[in-house]
Amino acid sequence: MDFHFLSLFKQGTRAGGTRMKRSPLYLFNTLSKKKDEFQAIKPDSVRMYSCGPTVYDRAHIGNLRPYVFSDILRRTLEYNGYTVKHVINITDVGHLTSDEDAGDDKMLLALRREGLPVTLAEMKKVGTKYAKMFKKDLGDLNIKTPLAFPRASEHIEGQIAFIKTLEEKGYAYILKDGVYFDTGVFKTYGALGGTPKELNTGVSRLKGGKRKRNERDFALWKFSTEESSTGKKLGWDSPWGVGFPGWHIECSAMSTEYLGKYFDIHTGGMDHIPVHHNNEIAQTEALTGKPFVNYWLHSAFLTIEGKKISKSIGNTVYLYHLADRGFPPFAYRYWLLTGHYRTQLNFTWEALQGAYSALVKLHKQFLDLGASNGVVVKSYQERFERFVNDDLDTPKAIALLFELIEDNAVEKRDKRATILDMNRVLGIGFIESHRQMKRMLAGETKKVEVKEAPREVQELVKERESAREEKDWKTADLLREKIAKEGYDIKDTEEGSELTKK
Ligand code: AMP
Ligand code: ZN
Repeated sequence: MDFHFLSLFKQGTRAGGTRMKRSPLYLFNTLSKKKDEFQAIKPDSVRMYSCGPTVYDRAHIGNLRPYVFSDILRRTLEYNGYTVKHVINITDVGHLTSDEDAGDDKMLLALRREGLPVTLAEMKKVGTKYAKMFKKDLGDLNIKTPLAFPRASEHIEGQIAFIKTLEEKGYAYILKDGVYFDTGVFKTYGALGGTPKELNTGVSRLKGGKRKRNERDFALWKFSTEESSTGKKLGWDSPWGVGFPGWHIECSAMSTEYLGKYFDIHTGGMDHIPVHHNNEIAQTEALTGKPFVNYWLHSAFLTIEGKKISKSIGNTVYLYHLADRGFPPFAYRYWLLTGHYRTQLNFTWEALQGAYSALVKLHKQFLDLGASNGVVVKSYQERFERFVNDDLDTPKAIALLFELIEDNAVEKRDKRATILDMNRVLGIGFIESHRQMKRMLAGETKKVEVKEAPREVQELVKERESAREEKDWKTADLLREKIAKEGYDIKDTEEGSELTKK
């Protein structure tokens, strides 16, 4: 019987909407430190919150890893027949450069760096600019759009209400520089663990007699120490004084507002475990008196050429750098999936080239399969499901995809249907209309000779070439954006600049 492609999407749910029994799904839970079998709170739907970026700068490729991971998690849950309510927040206030309530406010740093007036309105604008870039990167990486991207600056009232309740319940106290959460009253503090050294660093850094009651106590609200450009104190009014919410409170306030006071999954990068997520649990459970989240999942970090990603080393790579060198974002997504999300990965250009070549090969072989779908091959589907249901083992799932591609015993149309079934989880671009991949395969790159481009574009290309010669990368990047606004992508090759019409 012919199996129409659309029916693939209906798998996992019965006609009546109840979930079809699939093999068990195991996820490594930071709370229990082991792979737990996933049980949803509600029978058919899962609520999941991912800590989002601080929008004081563009996200580098390391920052994007947690969202490729949460996308695979979401798609795996959907593959298992759940509907998923996914929320990614946008941090645009209150995140200091250190997790321990010390250092500078990252959004203020952005205003200073960009020479903008110090006002809440400008802060919002800068945040909007980087949030837009972040969302574009997510789209380019084929990450499914979440239900909402709530912004901290748009949920100040909710955060104040949250802190007020904590105060009423006896969990908060006031110091000279802000309102603090009293971990001494919340007896189970530190549910996720974390190195004591990291948790203890807070006290010594709080100067000027601002003694906290316990070392691990953290700020819920920080009083403003900044004058805005209008001469007033910078910040929001609150019952305690003008200031900013602490970073952690936004995630407790917004996750519970969008997903309810008790939900299924919370994700983030591993750096969030010792402080941010322990604090989120403490605040929320102190408020509700109930468990907050059942499964806490964390993705590992990325190094570049063996080193920590750092502006001071100058090894930061952004998604557009990949495009510059002719790699579509799918190549990066695919490369990430060849490693397990809990394994630290080291990015190198050679590794990306290798991943890209493998992906191109896969796509070409897929195109050779023709355009009609047969049936999903059960034996392959079962193994695939077992792999992804084993704590999202994408490296094994990808190896299986290659095994299937090479398997001459499977009919072409069935192979096609099975690959598309696997791609519901992997999302590496077999049918998604990804311009770059499609163009690349069709060999129609829409290249335009620089001398044939409009005069304004030619001027911008010239200016950019001189900026690059002077190693003024910032200006070169700005000029790239201008060229993009004119409708062209620019790539640097050994022969010089290369233009492609968008
Ligand atoms: P931030 O904007 O600093 O809050 O970071 C956004 C996300 O990127 C967080 O979930 C971090 O855990 C994650 N992150 C930061 N640096 C890296 C890295 N080098 N590799 C992987 N994830 C990272
Ligand atoms: Zn968070």
